[in-house]
Amino acid sequence: MLEQAKTSLPWHSAQWSALVSQPHFAHAYLFCGPSGAGKRAFASAFAAWLMCDRPAAEGACQQCRSCLLRQAGSHPDLLLIEPEEAGKAIRVDAIRQLVDFISQTAQQGGRKVVVLHPAEAMNQNAANALLKSLEEPTAETYLLLVSDQPSRLLPTIRSRCRVQPLGLPAEQPAQDWLQAELPDVDERQRRLLLQMAAGAPLKALLLKEQDAIAQREKVVEGVKALLKGQVSAPKLAEQWNSVALDLLLDWFAAWTLELLKLNQGAQEIANSADMDKVLGYLAPRVSVSALLDWQDWLLQHRRQFDNKANLNRQLFLEKLLARWKVLAERR
Ligand SMILES: [Zn+2]
Repeated sequence: MLEQAKTSLPWHSAQWSALVSQPHFAHAYLFCGPSGAGKRAFASAFAAWLMCDRPAAEGACQQCRSCLLRQAGSHPDLLLIEPEEAGKAIRVDAIRQLVDFISQTAQQGGRKVVVLHPAEAMNQNAANALLKSLEEPTAETYLLLVSDQPSRLLPTIRSRCRVQPLGLPAEQPAQDWLQAELPDVDERQRRLLLQMAAGAPLKALLLKEQDAIAQREKVVEGVKALLKGQVSAPKLAEQWNSVALDLLLDWFAAWTLELLKLNQGAQEIANSADMDKVLGYLAPRVSVSALLDWQDWLLQHRRQFDNKANLNRQLFLEKLLARWKVLAERR
């Protein structure tokens, strides 16, 4: 079921106004931009708007028959295509369902809309099958593709869509929005969430749900203890048993970037305030070439993780921590 996004997010209001005031709509759109920027909310708000009987400038009316059907998750002319499981591929079967859907007449007599997310999850066969539908558009039928990584789409798919980039908000609007969403979280923690999310507000919200603040505190404490020799790498790997591996990899990657920036003369830590002492201590002790080696190693393992390779978690973390510890000793 589509999320019940009533409107696009406030930082996309200019893009929204420009889009809905077009005299003609393209039959396929590609909404792209960083993960957690609000592309899906934008696409579902646009889908709702396209299908609404009485759409206003700011969004669907939320009251007409079409809106009520959609809110109930039972609008027959709205189709959501996504992987069966997060991280898995969108297969050709799903695209065949899409092809059937667009070849039928709209059951409610209005427009038909497909939201496909994330578009880069389509495997080769699925992408080829979609291409045919893009080449032969059907009247009053709209395909809304959403993608974090549009470069991974077939160029022939990209070129048949109207591309609408949707970026991240500036720091203050992001903070304001997060404050409204998380009124019980204090400002320091909101700032940390937004930093961990690299400025993406929806990702910050997700991190809160994953209890990332507590995990982060545990990890930062652990890193400090490791560098002080108070805990061994195997022991620490064990203590981090419950910490999500993708978060860990993201954090080490972010700290490495900060170290590289410090090494190149940056005066302050931009995005990891809770690690400023550790990074400040390490920066003069570690060479750029060692940092680049380490960054390569991290990226390689990040890719393995993204490709769902079977990592032996304990062994992998031990290796990671051992490498991190010797970074400072390698100059
Ligand atoms: Zn409506």
